[in-house]
Amino acid sequence: MFEDQFLMMNDKLNLVEIVSKHVLLQQSRKALKGRCPFHKDETTSLMVIPASNVFKCFGCGAEGGPIEFLMHLEGKSRNEIVGKLAKLNFPKEKMAV
Ligand SMILES: [Zn+2]
Repeated sequence: MFEDQFLMMNDKLNLVEIVSKHVLLQQSRKALKGRCPFHKDETTSLMVIPASNVFKCFGCGAEGGPIEFLMHLEGKSRNEIVGKLAKLNFPKEKMAV
């Protein structure tokens, strides 16, 4: 049940939108590149692939979807992030608490 909710949410969230709030992204072929917020990045190690809604950092190895990005950024657990997003983005949907 919870896993379904998580997958659905990761699918609905726009990763590019979320990342671009924190990182200046530059277009580069099929992906977007920017400075990774998870380690001291002097280059642009962070790659965001809009078509797959995933990111990957070639510097520190962080990778995942929108929820993983927020987990790394805020240092919180998946449950905490999903709970927070549920309140922010899906207030009208019934969420099992
Ligand atoms: Zn990194």
